[in-house]
Amino acid sequence: MITKFIKRILRRDPMVKHTQANNTGAPKRIPKKAHRIDPHLLSKNAVKVTHTLQQAGFEAFIVGGAVRDLALGISPKDFDVATNATPDQVQRLFRKARLIGRRFQIVHVTFFGKGHPEIIEVSTFRALLDNAGDHVAESGRILRDNVWGSQGEDAARRDFTINAMYYDPSSETVLDYHGGMADMQKKTLRMIGDPAKRYREDPVRMLRAVRFAAKTGFELDGATRAPIAKLGKLLNDVPSARLFDEILKLLMSGYSWAAIQGLKAAGLHHGLLPLLDHILDTGADSKEANDFVKLALANTDDRIQSGKSVSAGFLFATLLWPDLLKNWKANSAKGMANIPALHDAMDDTIATQSSGMTIQRRFESDMREIWSMQPRFERRVGRYPYRLIESPRFRAGYDFMLLRCATGELNPAIGQWWTDFIATDVTGQDELMASVKNESGNSPSPAKRRRRRKPKAAVPPESAAS
Ligand code: ATP
Ligand code: MG
Repeated sequence: MITKFIKRILRRDPMVKHTQANNTGAPKRIPKKAHRIDPHLLSKNAVKVTHTLQQAGFEAFIVGGAVRDLALGISPKDFDVATNATPDQVQRLFRKARLIGRRFQIVHVTFFGKGHPEIIEVSTFRALLDNAGDHVAESGRILRDNVWGSQGEDAARRDFTINAMYYDPSSETVLDYHGGMADMQKKTLRMIGDPAKRYREDPVRMLRAVRFAAKTGFELDGATRAPIAKLGKLLNDVPSARLFDEILKLLMSGYSWAAIQGLKAAGLHHGLLPLLDHILDTGADSKEANDFVKLALANTDDRIQSGKSVSAGFLFATLLWPDLLKNWKANSAKGMANIPALHDAMDDTIATQSSGMTIQRRFESDMREIWSMQPRFERRVGRYPYRLIESPRFRAGYDFMLLRCATGELNPAIGQWWTDFIATDVTGQDELMASVKNESGNSPSPAKRRRRRKPKAAVPPESAAS
């Protein structure tokens, strides 16, 4: 009991770990003229965090993806800071600082300025794990990793060499433990350490390899690529929520189409998005489906690259649409009415997806809403269109419908009609409604017309009584 307690206390003090030997070696110090990082691309808040920590006597660096992006001349979307201060010590230095996580605590320091608040994630250097006992599952997957360590150890437990560089804004120096800068120049994505072992520890690293290759345009180093074919199946053991996070990052990377192609090339797409399997695996017969997904992803990539927001619900709705459409058609062919056929197909599609990777509930409800809006775009009679544009998710449903028009699955004239309908005034809308009546095939059925001629609400009370 007491030894356990002492061990825990020792773990809480990074200085103790610092004194322990490690074989991670000294970093290469890369001066400004060699790394050419443009200080203008730095987040002022991230610099504030490193300065504050340094002034309090701690080491502090910008780390990980931000340094990689800075060295590529890209403006990083978020900034992480690594330090030898403990989370408690970090928290005491900042006004808006929150401890996050139970297993390994990190600190979120929030800054409020113009626009969105910015969160700088501050983590304490973490130790390398030995393969001892309870940390590692039989497959080699790491189950717990909550020990603080030195900067060298922290670097060695990161995934790729280009993700393991530390930038000190004060001296404008990069500390590079694993030859990340040389790999940047060679445009190579290289796993730190023994790739097979690192994938076994955390199979998600295989997905990350594909994502970073798509994002940077770098080639995977041979030894980093080789084990993936055999180890890809280990992704089956990864908890669904973790997979979902990583797949979402991949889809939201701004390079989603390239990344999906990368997943396919690496044989990693099976089971992640089961419904993508048939799109990616089959040839000509799924050309339509392939076109739809490709267009949707290209559209997403464009939006992300130009700084616009993308909803995950919308994105998954597009990825699963080809499967949904297939189920919907099959239900209709069995004689089901149109709307129940769609709803039944939605349940099937979501159930099949959940057998691979469950999509979080809040996104699922967005998807259902977007999907169930689709047949309503074809009902351009009576009050229907006026009601549809008032629905809170109209814009998403409309954008989705336009994608269907762009691939020819839906008559593009319908898309154009809606584009005109939302751009015009009441008179214009009435004219558009009248124009539909004249289109063949779009006029309401005689039965419906009859019903609408005598709506209950429109009947004056005195005549209703007679
Ligand atoms: P992005 O720009 O997409 O955020 P990133 O490199 O910052 O890319 P994150 O997922 O935010 O990716 O992770 C931050 C850093 O943490 C990485 O750069 C890497 O050093 C380390 N890291 C993240 N996930 C892993 C992992 N599964 N194994 C090892 N190191 C990891
Ligand atoms: Mg990041």
